[in-house]
Amino acid sequence: MSGTDLTARDARALWHPYTQHGLGITPLQVASARGAHLHLKDGRRILDAISSWWVILHGHCHPDITAAVAEQAATLEQVILAGHTHEPAVRLAEILIGAAREAGTDLTRVFYSDNGSTAVEVALKMAYQYHINRGGTPRRRFIALSDAYHGDTFGAMAVGEPEGFHGIFRPLLPPVDFVAPGDTAALARILSRHPCEHAAMIVEPLVQGAGGMRFYPAAFLTEAERLCREAGVLLIVDEVFTGFYRTGRCFAFEHAGVRPDLICLSKGLTGGFLPLAATLATEEIFEGFLSQDRTKALMHGHSFAGNPIACAAGIASWAILEASECRQRIGEICDLTARRVDHLASHPASRNARHLGTIGAIDLTGPPGYFSTLGLRMYEEALSRNVLLRPLGNVLYTVPPYCVTDEEIGLIYDTMERILDRCGTSRRKEDVEHRVAPGGPAGHRAGRANHPKT
Ligand code: PMP
Repeated sequence: MSGTDLTARDARALWHPYTQHGLGITPLQVASARGAHLHLKDGRRILDAISSWWVILHGHCHPDITAAVAEQAATLEQVILAGHTHEPAVRLAEILIGAAREAGTDLTRVFYSDNGSTAVEVALKMAYQYHINRGGTPRRRFIALSDAYHGDTFGAMAVGEPEGFHGIFRPLLPPVDFVAPGDTAALARILSRHPCEHAAMIVEPLVQGAGGMRFYPAAFLTEAERLCREAGVLLIVDEVFTGFYRTGRCFAFEHAGVRPDLICLSKGLTGGFLPLAATLATEEIFEGFLSQDRTKALMHGHSFAGNPIACAAGIASWAILEASECRQRIGEICDLTARRVDHLASHPASRNARHLGTIGAIDLTGPPGYFSTLGLRMYEEALSRNVLLRPLGNVLYTVPPYCVTDEEIGLIYDTMERILDRCGTSRRKEDVEHRVAPGGPAGHRAGRANHPKT
């Protein structure tokens, strides 16, 4: 079947995520992938500098994970997790609990679901029901950070950026109080204005990924935890993006020394092989659901919860992560990232160059926002150098897989520099004259990316 056929068939059959099909963008045809590269049908090798939506940890088709998946698929491929158990689910849960303990928490329970959004839904539901099960008055509000992104399902959208792309759904969502990261006084005000009304506060620790790779100080998270504790509000930490050493530590909350009540994990959990998510809870929260009364149970469960193949991938991925060579390599990537981002900071077209661990980001001067064509031009410029970068509006960033070589990191940052040269100072008319289809989102604020997942 020729490439053209696939394009035509795709155009007839698929509805792509986060895609305006009316713009007629032709998707890249990916035939296979190895290590840090995607192999396209037309023969090009593209360096995956964003780990395929931040999920790939060790590189594509890592042989250890491939083998673990194949073996598990031939042994036990799937079984209902309600009323049943299996070695991969228990083993991976033990691993995650151990990792959380190493990080200074006392989380003891793992609830499986399928993706980052469901990990968040589960955490929100646990927090809400926990207060009710303990006999308190229902706490119907949540606190979240402005510019947050926690996923696309309803609960996850509710705790996401209020004016961004999910704005169209806002009338359908439960009330949430948003606090600007860093604004401890605002958080204290919200808590005192609504005493005993908040079930939990949810945060992406230190890095708000889809909101534009926005960083905030660890001290804010430490202070937020203190205020939440005083108010009896649970702290949910969404490590879906930041988990598994993306920020240089196993979990980003470690930088702040906090002890979350609930942690959400997904993306890198299986090394990027298969969809799987885990919500980790303290024993105290788990015990809040223990009863002879069935209605006090958490009435939540997905068909593929704890899928054995996905859990086997997770176990194999963890084994690679734990090996000293991998940790050492992550440290080297962090150092190189810091050096290269510091170099980009002096470029006249760059603003707010920043790095944390393996994440490097810069904002381009020029018009921000998802609906400008700037992001698309940057993407195309990168692709012309065989690098996959997918800017968040005017935010250019990289989150490479840990198998990336020094030369490949060099190519990524050289490409970013080239993009700054070519796109950064441009203020072409169409960048300013973005427009949204009727009924589409209205959010477009100066100086920030306003669309998640672009
Ligand atoms: N939380 C965070 C911090 C995320 O970055 C994302 C996805 N980018 C999600 C939740 C949602 O994950 P998923 O796309 O797997 O539903």
